[in-house]
Amino acid sequence: MLTVSRLTKRFGGFTALSDVTFDVKEGEILGLIGPNGSGKTTCFNCVSGVLPPTAGSIRFRGEDLVGLTPDKVVHRGLARTFQIPRPFKKLSITENVAVAAHYGSAEHMSDAEARARAREILTLVGLAADPAALPALLGAGGLKKLELARALATGPKLLLADESLGGLDPTEMASAVDTLRRVRGELGITIVWVEHIMATLMRVVDRVVVLDHGEKIAEGRPLEVAEDPKVVEAYLGEKIVLE
Ligand code: ADP
Ligand code: MG
Repeated sequence: MLTVSRLTKRFGGFTALSDVTFDVKEGEILGLIGPNGSGKTTCFNCVSGVLPPTAGSIRFRGEDLVGLTPDKVVHRGLARTFQIPRPFKKLSITENVAVAAHYGSAEHMSDAEARARAREILTLVGLAADPAALPALLGAGGLKKLELARALATGPKLLLADESLGGLDPTEMASAVDTLRRVRGELGITIVWVEHIMATLMRVVDRVVVLDHGEKIAEGRPLEVAEDPKVVEAYLGEKIVLE
């Protein structure tokens, strides 16, 4: 579905991504992990058109994405969440999602249709309780749900989810994991998931790609990757416990 090939991104003299190659198969949940600063978000930024790659190619469903602006990328069915949610503060929760449906979806949608889509998605992510409220009312968990809802409202075939569990308590975390599973299972959306809470991620993903200092150091099934000496070393010996 997605083929990232020899992706390189430099900021001045600093190389944030170096020759990174991986692919994403339709229907899978792929984990993208690596220590802080290893280039995970930069990778999402390049794929989603937020940043131009320095070199390399990015093909999505047979089409080259390099050079497309983020609005064009999302219209082709590739949505992403941002690590730090920044909703429209003066719009309600429903309006935030309706705006995403209206502008982010390739289909033409009336205001009423966009709102109806927003309500469906808010139910799916577990945020339907107070749709007229402003986002300021939400805690960290709610903001993450809203961020996911905005991405899903665009009707993606592939979702890039950036650290969707950061700052959540264990109950919120379990429900977020359940939501991602349903996004794949019920909506049939393929997912690339960046996550720091590794034990949780490893239980859900089909495959993992590991970055360290901008380079891919491992790739494979979670159990194999967790025991790979290069991965253990990249995490400074931090034991990756699989629950
Ligand atoms: P991760 O998401 O894996 O924690 P990032 O992709 O955010 O890592 O960052 C990788 C490296 O690139 C970091 O050293 C970061 O400081 C640097 N970086 C990211 N974005 C920029 C930018 N826009 N300008 C300069 N350096 C950046
Ligand atoms: Mg990041």
